[in-house]
Amino acid sequence: MPVTVRFAPSPTGRLHAGNIRTALLNYLFARKHGGDFILRLDDTDQARSTKAFAKGIEEDVVWLGIQWAKLVHQSDRFALYEGAVERLKAMGRLYPAYETPEELDLKRKRQLARGKPPVYDRAALQLSDEDKARLEAEGRAPHWRFKLEPRDVVWDDLVRGRQHVDAASLSDPVLIRGDGTYLYTLPSVVDDIDLGVTHVVRGEDHVANTAPQIQLFEALGATPPAFGHHNLLVGPDGQALSKRDRSLAIEGLRAEGLEALSVASYAATIGTSDPVAPHVSLDELVEAFDFIKLSRAPARFDPHELRLLNAKLLHALPYEAVAARLEGLGVGGGEAFWEAVRGNLAVLSEAKMWWGVVQGPLTPVIESPELAVRRRSCSRPSPGDEETWPAWCAAVKAETGAKGKALFHPLRLALTAAETGPELKHLLPLIGRDRALARLEGKTA
Ligand code: GLU
Repeated sequence: MPVTVRFAPSPTGRLHAGNIRTALLNYLFARKHGGDFILRLDDTDQARSTKAFAKGIEEDVVWLGIQWAKLVHQSDRFALYEGAVERLKAMGRLYPAYETPEELDLKRKRQLARGKPPVYDRAALQLSDEDKARLEAEGRAPHWRFKLEPRDVVWDDLVRGRQHVDAASLSDPVLIRGDGTYLYTLPSVVDDIDLGVTHVVRGEDHVANTAPQIQLFEALGATPPAFGHHNLLVGPDGQALSKRDRSLAIEGLRAEGLEALSVASYAATIGTSDPVAPHVSLDELVEAFDFIKLSRAPARFDPHELRLLNAKLLHALPYEAVAARLEGLGVGGGEAFWEAVRGNLAVLSEAKMWWGVVQGPLTPVIESPELAVRRRSCSRPSPGDEETWPAWCAAVKAETGAKGKALFHPLRLALTAAETGPELKHLLPLIGRDRALARLEGKTA
């Protein structure tokens, strides 16, 4: 059977580092097996979901380089869920319960006090039709619980290995709230069946949903998909990440100018046995992907490490990979310019600054009173290529006796108005002889 996976965020916010990891692990797995990736927007909670967040999520996914075979919105699919609800009710697997949250809380406390596990006691199953009518007349709206079968549920988790859950130790999960809205449990299973999902890859925070969902697949007459629960992220200090931390939203990483590929490389390799390293294409990540490499320990997400990785990636990217974006930034100079500056970039947009330095006009920083000497030395005929810089340095050195920093630093400041930067050997031919000589004279050029 061809592999089909889905990434199913709720559009109640933008994607953050944790979500994109789930998205990528799904995508890489699908690509590795020549399968399909579905983007499913879990927007049954219409009070909290917005169209703007949904659009934002689509944009984030596209930015990451992920291509979906299908895009579905749960809000378009209520008829399917209602059909499944009717079937479950007819089978006696979905039953109404009327306890208020306070009553349920009290039950749990009593059970705990007696040393019993706080599992729902199924009191609602004992209600007669008259009891239900009376409760509803009192103004109580039922919530609906899925009746679990008291048996062992077993699955071979793609990441965690064989898992056993005794369903008798679980409360019957609520599938529909008192106000008629769905919890994610049932719509998710109905969609996974309808869309032919073969592998559910999601965070460890969903492990507890898996046994009830497996029983739900079975109750609806479907073979459950395979499940894989990946490790979750912690911050550099080992603390759980807060979703409210803006720097972890993809939007923020993007606004900071980080490359989609470095975010993807980082998200896909932290918490695995592979070293965190830049990948120059998603294909390389697909190649390296394997669930067995995922660690069971939490994955450490360190924005500082991501920034370093971004710089490393830029230093390795060939001109073709960035040409269109450089053009978009108004940066010229072609491959020679890119080769000259990429090693000095933390984010791509800094190329614009160096292009400004090459093109001018730039007001040089003049540090040395001996510029005339330098200019004279440099204005001698020179090759105008990468040999120019060593030739100029040799000439200035011969004339002034300056060496090391005393030789290079005033020249760099005059030529670029910056303390540090790309190698002048590469930059000087791009600046050009006339402009360079004018700057050595202290002129804006
Ligand atoms: N909408 C759910 C979530 O965002 C999907 C969980 C799942 O992948 O099954 O957590």
